[in-house]
Amino acid sequence: MRQVFNFSAGPATLPEEVLAQAAAEMLDWHGSGQSVMEMSHRGKEYMSIHEQAERDLRELMGIPSNYKVLFLQGGATLQFAMVPINLMRGRAADYVHTGEWSKKAIREAKLFGTVNLAASAEDRHFTYAPPPSTWRRSADAAYLHYCANETIGGVEVFQTPETGDVPLVADVSSTFLSRPLDVPKFGLIYGGAQKNIGPAGLTIVIVRDDLLGHAPTGTPTMLDYKVQADADSMLNTPPTWAIYIAGLVFQWLKRQGGLAAIEQRNIAKAAVLYDYLDATPFYRNPVERTDRSRMNVPFTLRDAALDEAFLKGAKERNLLQLKGHRSVGGMRASIYNAMPIEGVRALVDYMRDFERRNG
Ligand SMILES: *Cc1c(COP(=O)(O)O)cnc(C)c1O
Repeated sequence: MRQVFNFSAGPATLPEEVLAQAAAEMLDWHGSGQSVMEMSHRGKEYMSIHEQAERDLRELMGIPSNYKVLFLQGGATLQFAMVPINLMRGRAADYVHTGEWSKKAIREAKLFGTVNLAASAEDRHFTYAPPPSTWRRSADAAYLHYCANETIGGVEVFQTPETGDVPLVADVSSTFLSRPLDVPKFGLIYGGAQKNIGPAGLTIVIVRDDLLGHAPTGTPTMLDYKVQADADSMLNTPPTWAIYIAGLVFQWLKRQGGLAAIEQRNIAKAAVLYDYLDATPFYRNPVERTDRSRMNVPFTLRDAALDEAFLKGAKERNLLQLKGHRSVGGMRASIYNAMPIEGVRALVDYMRDFERRNG
């Protein structure tokens, strides 16, 4: 058993079982005599890993056959550009602004075309998710983009918006595989792996096949979804090690009972922390109750002068990486799939104790 609980927002904690399996297979994967890292990406051993990972992801999420699964690089940040490049087709796109990550997506999209701000939570300092019924969507939008979970602000959009014929695009980096998602409602879903799926270096894109093939002439080959899809994500060397670990995480998720089961555990974990935050004026989470993220829980101490002592004491109890994002300060506990409920309980025990000594 590992001795620490790691609350990092990303790269983040991974299931101990997965790390142990990767360690056991490190020098010799399944009798091949090679580490996965050393394998040719076109050899039959690696191909079996790659194909199994895609099959397991499709099964977990219920991804229909008219959707492609792409294993890419460049992070979610490159998707901020690839989405408008491939999907705008000379039209405007609708964007919803719920915080830091949607802001970055909007800024990048503006490099490629017109952005219509369909909704913004700026009026209340990004502490809530504007309900989809209030979004001012344009009828002829090329697509609508939103961030399903603002990792920094701790705001989650739980309701999947209905956009009719307008393709729905979601950045799910920090909520990927934390709960079931109705894939057929989306045109494109993307996220970096390092929050809830595996190591940094892998970006997963799930895209409906009618959205492929519309990149303008002059688009760099690597940035064209259709070319990537036609090459089965093997246009160049894919991030083989990251895909292998992601595949082990998919199998771990299946052993946990799949996404509906993990969602129940995530609800229970988040409740332990939010219930405590709400029970004391010593700590505070600023987010509207209905929009509180189950994955990233920012909170402040009543007196910011105690922040340093709080972090120091947490570290002494092996509760790591609780410092809030530099843009908001305070604390942030990221409690992704791989964080056991014991970790959340240990955090709350520590918070209670810290309050008793300093309250
Ligand atoms: C971390 C994060 C990103 C950026 O991811 P990179 O993989 O570092 O590019 C984008 N969106 C959200 C919601 C994130 O949490």
